[in-house]
Amino acid sequence: TEQMLLNTEKLAAVGQMAASAAHEIRNPLTTIRGFIQLLEPSFHQQEHYDLVLEEIDRINLIISEFLILSKPQATCFEQQNLVQILKDTVALSQPQASMHNVQIQVHFFADPIFIRGDGNQLKQVFINLIKNGMDAIESHGVLSIHLKANEQGEAAVKITDTGIGMTETQIQKLGTPFFTTKKEGTGLGFMIIKRIVNQHNGKIEVKSKKGEGSTITVLLPLSE
Ligand code: ADP
Repeated sequence: TEQMLLNTEKLAAVGQMAASAAHEIRNPLTTIRGFIQLLEPSFHQQEHYDLVLEEIDRINLIISEFLILSKPQATCFEQQNLVQILKDTVALSQPQASMHNVQIQVHFFADPIFIRGDGNQLKQVFINLIKNGMDAIESHGVLSIHLKANEQGEAAVKITDTGIGMTETQIQKLGTPFFTTKKEGTGLGFMIIKRIVNQHNGKIEVKSKKGEGSTITVLLPLSE
């Protein structure tokens, strides 16, 4: 066990170093992006120019998600009305939903539904889940969100999409680092979701069928 403790410490130190390195990469990257934007590419350079900007944005996204993951649990647990958190999250996701012709339907079976948690982190969970649902839909579809308090003393948030769904293997891989099937994916979104839900003593259930859609349920203990 002493060796295990040492390993944990070593891992934590490596994680911290990686996090500060990631942080340091951001500033020069911002400078590079800024200067590239000042360039005026000729017609035949335009495609490469766009690609460079896209790739820089991709690096930025990976770094952002990595930093969320490596941040120590500076969580601020307070009483939260999950209904309000979901309303805020849906409002944030609405523009993207309209762009993709996704209709978001919301059903709250009670209001308020109180849990203890960190408001920003919980929003992050639902933003990621809604984004995944919308990505899965591609063009037209429905994303529905149900919230209720169940008999087990949990708040249950069920997010269902009519998207492409997942195979059994994909479900297994979901939440492992860098697993993605998307051209622009990072494969870190679900890891972030899992981490935050674990910190809130919650659970995640995944039901999905290739070609039919997916339902992700987040269960969080109700606060007394
Ligand atoms: P990313 O969105 O960057 O790919 P995630 O960790 O959030 O990273 O998701 C990993 C993969 O899991 C996705 O690329 C996709 O293949 C699959 N996935 C997640 N949510 C859904 C969903 N609602 N429907 C279909 N596939 C999904």
